[in-house]
Amino acid sequence: MQTQTHHDQHGRYATAGSVADFKHNLAAIRARINAACERAGRDPSGVRLLPVSKTVPEDRIRMAYAAGCRQLGENKVQEAYGKWEAMADLTDLNWSLIGHLQSNKARDVARFVTEFHALDRLSLARTLDRRLQQEGRALDVLVQVNTSGEDSKFGLAPDAVQDFVRQLPAFSSLRVRGLMTLALFSSDAERVRQCFVLLRTLRDQLRQDAPEGIAMDELSMGMSGDFEIAIEEGATIVRVGQAIFGARATPDAYYWPAGQKRP
Ligand SMILES: *Cc1c(COP(=O)(O)O)cnc(C)c1O
Repeated sequence: MQTQTHHDQHGRYATAGSVADFKHNLAAIRARINAACERAGRDPSGVRLLPVSKTVPEDRIRMAYAAGCRQLGENKVQEAYGKWEAMADLTDLNWSLIGHLQSNKARDVARFVTEFHALDRLSLARTLDRRLQQEGRALDVLVQVNTSGEDSKFGLAPDAVQDFVRQLPAFSSLRVRGLMTLALFSSDAERVRQCFVLLRTLRDQLRQDAPEGIAMDELSMGMSGDFEIAIEEGATIVRVGQAIFGARATPDAYYWPAGQKRP
């Protein structure tokens, strides 16, 4: 397959500034998702689009809501928490936390987040589970895996995932759904693809001997620059920010602290 990355577009997407802009961008992404599914012989209903609204202010998030968005991804819990409070009137708007989480912020997550994509250590699983029980809530979680081998990326090493997942049934408020990764940030489509292949292969292996109560169906992988390749390799959730909302001013180094190498 010849699908290319769109990382050359990075930082150049036009800002969506009206409900019509959002409808247009969402429809364009859905069309590309459908085309990628067709190439891969997949049913498009098996791919969920998770729009990522980090850095986007409230007025434009409300436009995205008016255009039909009911679940949004945020990288930082403080930012998500503030938006949740400010838009509490949108009672059917749900929040996914997709970025690294410090344990001392687990309590905030337990209050409102419905889905967490970046579980990467047992101490965090323990703290989240305790906080969720205090709130009387449960949380869908995905285990983050570092498939690119870059120091700047969070997540478990691939060979540590199986042991990790075996411990998760102890945490009854965590509903384990699958795996998440960030691919290498590169215009070399083959190397990007290998990250997605690795995640899918891991998921398939884990499915064989997943503990009772642990579902391993979801693969959260692919973003604005590479979601089509991710879909060709089995993504069930794609996390797309800039291609829907527009370019971000904040550099990615803010989210992937050591900065990303861009070969
Ligand atoms: C920001 C972000 C995305 C989306 O990136 P875009 O380039 O805006 O599509 C996906 N995943 C994570 C973890 C993010 O923080």
